Amino acid sequence: MVENIIVVGGGIVGASIAYHLASNGAKVTILEKSIPASGASSKSFGWINANAAETKSYYKLRRAAIFDYLDLCERIKLETAVKWDGSLWWEDQGQDLIDQASVLAEYGYEAKIIDAARFAALEPNIANPPEKCIFGQIEGSADGAEMVRLLLAEATKFDAHVVAGCHVSGFLRKGNRIEGVETNFGKMRADKVVVATGAWSQKLLECAGINLPMDNKTGVIVHTLPVDPVINHLILSPDIHFRQDNSGRIILGEIFSGEGLNEAKAESPIDFAQKMLVRLKERLPDVADLTVDRINVGMRPVPLDGLPAVGVPNGLSGIYVAVMHSGITLAPLIGRLVAQEMLEGQDAGALSDFRPDRFS
Ligand SMILES: Cc1cc2nc3c(=O)[nH]c(=O)nc-3n(C[C@H](O)[C@H](O)[C@H](O)COP(=O)(O)OP(=O)(O)OC[C@H]3O[C@@H](n4cnc5c(N)ncnc54)[C@H](O)[C@@H]3O)c2cc1C
Repeated sequence: MVENIIVVGGGIVGASIAYHLASNGAKVTILEKSIPASGASSKSFGWINANAAETKSYYKLRRAAIFDYLDLCERIKLETAVKWDGSLWWEDQGQDLIDQASVLAEYGYEAKIIDAARFAALEPNIANPPEKCIFGQIEGSADGAEMVRLLLAEATKFDAHVVAGCHVSGFLRKGNRIEGVETNFGKMRADKVVVATGAWSQKLLECAGINLPMDNKTGVIVHTLPVDPVINHLILSPDIHFRQDNSGRIILGEIFSGEGLNEAKAESPIDFAQKMLVRLKERLPDVADLTVDRINVGMRPVPLDGLPAVGVPNGLSGIYVAVMHSGITLAPLIGRLVAQEMLEGQDAGALSDFRPDRFS
């Protein structure tokens, strides 16, 4: 029997789940309150990595996600979205950097410390090479909006439809079973509903009595106008991180773990962008005409403990949750595992530490 599944949320996580469900035989309807990729996915830095995971199982999940990206790149054309540029990381320095490298080495991650001379050879246009940095050879970057476009285009080659402007406000429920959703267009029935609504998930899930506490964080990413190719890797330094995309734009933000705008100082996005531009020019002194083109203020979807929340919530059926930060990295893997769990009833061991029940 063909399963009729509603995916709520047209970001990279919803798009990947929709693609994997539809390509495995489900009939899928994606309901998006605005337009696809209008949330965090289009405002992301887009670093694909397993670099600074909080736990070993989270490291393993993210490392596996890099493999899944490579597999997905074999199956569908993602060249306009994905670049395997590798990263150069020295957000932390001194002993902290060495400790970080040792943890990664213990995990078996393909990353190693390089010195200033090697850095200068890899990135001749960047001023003041760090004494040491971690070279993450297998890492890459993805344009979240383009990923959503490509994944949804692939999904619609199977039995999938996207409805934009469709706001889900609640669930149709019979006992402990979810049987569809309430929307601004009325009731819609389905065999199963996936909630992939990123930073908006806590409130929506409360309508089904599901507790998913979130600690969402604002993040700001600035895009310059395109310039000639000047950077070869993702650069993650103590006061700025940046990369160059396929079109030549430099995509930049403050330190990766930073929160973006300084709300205590009522910093405006424009002041923030100018501050970032000054830092970028210090790193790239020979690049003329670095001009801010776009400032994206996004909300990072972060479950309270920082880890993904993926699975069927306790005591319910017919509903599946998929909410996470690092969704650009995780989306291809999560999409595959969610489709496997939903369609084949197979529990994915890789997800066992990330179930939403841990909050109930
Ligand atoms: C500044 C910034 C930098 C980041 N950098 C990285 C990075 O380098 N690497 C990385 O892996 N991750 C990064 N992230 C995180 C990553 O972008 C997110 O984890 C990912 O985009 C989440 O995707 P999503 O599909 O879950 O959510 P979203 O992209 O937010 O999509 C959710 C969608 O659901 C829709 N929606 C919400 N509520 C409803 C409703 N009730 N009805 C219908 N539709 C609804 C929204 O409109 C939205 O389109 C970053 C995020 C930010 C903001």
